[in-house]
Amino acid sequence: MEVSSSGLALPLPWHESVWGDLNKTIEQGRMPHALLISGPSGIGKERLATALAQRLLCAAEMNNYACGVCKSCQLMSAGFHPDLSILQPADEGKDILIGDVRKLCSTLDKTAQQGGWKIAIIVPGEAMNISASNALLKSLEEPQGKTLLILVAHRPSLLSATIRSRCQKKSLLPPPLDTARQWLSEVSGHDANVDKALEVAAGRPLLALQYIQSGTLQDQQILEGVIEAVRRGEQSFIDAALQCSKLNTAIALEWFMNYLHLAVTQDAAVQSNQNVYLFLDRLNHMHQMIVSGSTVNQQLLWEELLMSWGQVFAKR
Ligand SMILES: [Zn+2]
Repeated sequence: MEVSSSGLALPLPWHESVWGDLNKTIEQGRMPHALLISGPSGIGKERLATALAQRLLCAAEMNNYACGVCKSCQLMSAGFHPDLSILQPADEGKDILIGDVRKLCSTLDKTAQQGGWKIAIIVPGEAMNISASNALLKSLEEPQGKTLLILVAHRPSLLSATIRSRCQKKSLLPPPLDTARQWLSEVSGHDANVDKALEVAAGRPLLALQYIQSGTLQDQQILEGVIEAVRRGEQSFIDAALQCSKLNTAIALEWFMNYLHLAVTQDAAVQSNQNVYLFLDRLNHMHQMIVSGSTVNQQLLWEELLMSWGQVFAKR
C-alpha cells in the first residue's frame, strides 16, 4: 500500500470526489454507523477506507486529512491503533468466520480508548459466511455511539441484502484511462509496460501496478499466445493446458475473461458468436470457484476449458 511520508494511507487521485463527499458528511456530523465501499478489486477501496478511518481518528485533522503527527496518527503509522480494527480472512480466498466477527463487534461496543471514534474495516465483506454476516447484522441493528463499520466489497451482490440495506453506499469505478496512466507511470518510475499493464488489468491501476512489480505481464503474454493459438487450431488443447497449468489459475482466468471482454468489443467475429458468451459464463463460474478456495486439478481444468474454447470457433 502506498502511504504518505508519515506512514499513513492517502486517498488516490481518482477518489477525490468521494473523499470530498465523505468529508462533507463528517463536517455535517452525519457520518453513518455503516459504510459500504464497493467496486472492482484493484482500484484502492481498502486504501480509501483506511484513509477515512485515519482521518476520523486523527486528533488534529489538517485540511481534511490525518495530520500524521498526533498521538493517534503515530499509533496508526506504527500499524496499531486500539480504536481501529481491520478484519480480513485468515488466508486469501477463505471465509471470515463468526468468531472473528463477534470479537470485532465486542471491540466496537467498548468505549474508545482515545475518546473519539471506534472503527472497524472488513475486507472483503463478501468473505463473511452466513453465520458471520448474521452476527454482524446484530451489531448493525444496535449501533453504539461514535462507531463506524466500513465494509469493503469487490462483489457487493454477494453480501446479504439486509446488510447492504443497513449501509450507506459508496460505489467506486476504475478511473479514466488518462488518470490511471499518469498515476501508474509515476508510481512505477515510468515503467515501459504501463499501457500494457493497464490493458491487462482492465483499467484497474493498483492491479496493473501489481502486475508490473511482480513481473507477471510476461505470463499474461504466454496466456494470450495460447488462447490465440488454440482459437486458430494451431495448438492442441492438451499441450496448451500444460503451459497454462504453470500460471496462477485465478489470475490467468481473470486475464482470459478480460481478453474476451476486449475481444467482444473489438472483434466482430467474436461479438457475433453466441458461444463466446456461454464460454464467458463458464470462465466466470470457474473463476468464482477458484477464488472461493476450491482445489482443482489445474491440468484438467485447463484441458476442459481450452477444449471448449477451441470448440467455440469450430466450423459446424
Ligand atoms: Zn493526527
